[in-house]
Amino acid sequence: MRETILIVEDEKDIIKMLEYNLKREGFKTLSATDGEAALEVAARYCPDLILLDLMLPGIDGLEVCKNLKANTKTAHIPVIILTAKSQESDKIVGLELGADDYVTKPFSPRELIARIKAVLRRVKEKDKLSEVLKIGDLTVDFSKIQVYIKNKPVELTAKEFELLKTLIKAKGRVLSRDYLLDNIWGFDHAMEIQTRTVDVHIRTLRKKLKGEARRIITVKNYGYRFEAEED
Ligand code: CA
Repeated sequence: MRETILIVEDEKDIIKMLEYNLKREGFKTLSATDGEAALEVAARYCPDLILLDLMLPGIDGLEVCKNLKANTKTAHIPVIILTAKSQESDKIVGLELGADDYVTKPFSPRELIARIKAVLRRVKEKDKLSEVLKIGDLTVDFSKIQVYIKNKPVELTAKEFELLKTLIKAKGRVLSRDYLLDNIWGFDHAMEIQTRTVDVHIRTLRKKLKGEARRIITVKNYGYRFEAEED
């Protein structure tokens, strides 16, 4: 799965330069040129990492960072802040607000990409700690790609498993159909027929999960989330 990086930067030349370099490294990119757009795109597409320039028109980068971390849909997304030398104190504030790392402008693309990879690696290590999920009658073994209900194996198709895994890993956040399509099927954007693909797979997945199907919650006109809290 290719990872998506959201670039938040008001200087178009820097966006272009970053897009070029990130794509060459195999990343997908999204971009936003102001804080409001950044929050919207982040909540909608759940990128794997956000590059956040602090000097933005409108809401500044620090405020964006604070908002990202306060929203359950985006709080988990790692953030690397981009600062100018003159903003040394802002970089500390940014880290206190939950940013994962910072890079000082001007930076070399190579340095930035190394930082991105390091942050993504850290996030993945953290995820690995929980390779088996047990909740109610449901057990999901992520390393063996096997699901059990009441300890009996359940046969899921590869797509059904990916769907369940993606929902579980989102830790209760709502994922849009577009996001699921893009990440599991790799379609760029949802047309009517494509969004239905997600619904069809959710339906078969629910059937196989029997009583535990109730954990997959439909968010009307948007998408789905996985409810892991014990009821
Ligand atoms: Ca700027």
